[in-house]
Amino acid sequence: MLEFNYKGLPWNIIFGAGALQRLPEEVEKLGFERALVLTTPQQQSAGEEIMQLLGGRGACLFSEAIMHVPVQTLEAAKSLADEIQADCTVSLGGGSTTGLGKALAAQKSLPNIAIPTSFAGSEMTNIWAVTETDRKVTTRDDSVVPTLTIYDPELTLTMPVGFAMVSGLNALAQAIVNVATDKPNPMVASMALDGIRALVSALPRIKANPDDIEARAEALYGASMAGAALGTGSTGLHHKLCHTFGGIFNTPHAETHAILLAHSVAYNATATAEGSQRIAGVMGVDDAAVGIFDLAGKLDAPQALSDIGIKESDLDEAAAVTTEKPFNNPEPVTIQKVRAMLQRAFEGLPPTST
Ligand code: NAD
Repeated sequence: MLEFNYKGLPWNIIFGAGALQRLPEEVEKLGFERALVLTTPQQQSAGEEIMQLLGGRGACLFSEAIMHVPVQTLEAAKSLADEIQADCTVSLGGGSTTGLGKALAAQKSLPNIAIPTSFAGSEMTNIWAVTETDRKVTTRDDSVVPTLTIYDPELTLTMPVGFAMVSGLNALAQAIVNVATDKPNPMVASMALDGIRALVSALPRIKANPDDIEARAEALYGASMAGAALGTGSTGLHHKLCHTFGGIFNTPHAETHAILLAHSVAYNATATAEGSQRIAGVMGVDDAAVGIFDLAGKLDAPQALSDIGIKESDLDEAAAVTTEKPFNNPEPVTIQKVRAMLQRAFEGLPPTST
């Protein structure tokens, strides 16, 4: 008999090509007058355009957002927010910039307007993080969900194809882990499956034609559904592994997801047979894990941990740290099985089930 709990998040979304132009009227409607605009250094000029668009309601641009929200960056942004008496933030960028906006929402109760430009999907989750001396602490808190998210697919056109592919695979991971589970939640899974469908359809089309705005829009929608699944669902071995590699070896976030996803799905395949079958069905393949591995290959995404600077001698430590504390996962987690799986991921071999 069907039995589940579901708690939604307070999403408020505007989606459409050109939607960015609605920013000034939406800020006015929300009653904000002094926006602190956030970007990375790489997207500073896009941030300056946002300042222009906001006119008098743009108080200042902070263009120092970087990956994993280092505490020093957060403190600098907090001081600036105080100094200019900001009443909201507008974060334009990928997961790193969205993450800074969410951290400011958590620590300064500053409402955030998110304008995502990658497929990270962070704007749909209640997960925020801060990193202090290489230790990233993540927390779930519904108050960090952006007050408004403006999805404008045109803003993703500047995302280089290589990054768009791994960013899309990062989103795919958020959806996949919420279908390939032993405790499926039908509402979370329905968002996840539609996210998988959209991403699997759109990413090869972006690869073939980077200017395909329809495909960019479909991938952005897929990323938003995947983020919705992550925000209302759960994580297990896959996210634990990515967290371990990012934390110890500072591996690039999206690439780490892209490499490990097929292997972690294979690891759980027996315990999640029904969910894996549903994923395979949506992907149009026989086996979910192999299908994910083949998709990453087709998209020219990195497929071996050795491609992102990991050495074979790092694998023992990664397996030990991943398994040092118990966590929820469909298949029991043992250091031996995780180490064996990491060997295949290191060599870029196709996944095998445990
Ligand atoms: P990112 O935000 O660091 O972006 C990578 C680079 O690409 C940056 O220089 C950025 O400025 C640039 N970029 C982004 N969009 C662009 C565009 N359209 N055009 C040109 N350049 C663009 O990387 P990411 O993968 O989007 O995010 C990774 C971070 O997000 C990690 O810290 C990860 O932990 C976090 N994240 C959090 C959640 C969550 O739910 N909390 C979910 C996913 C990712």
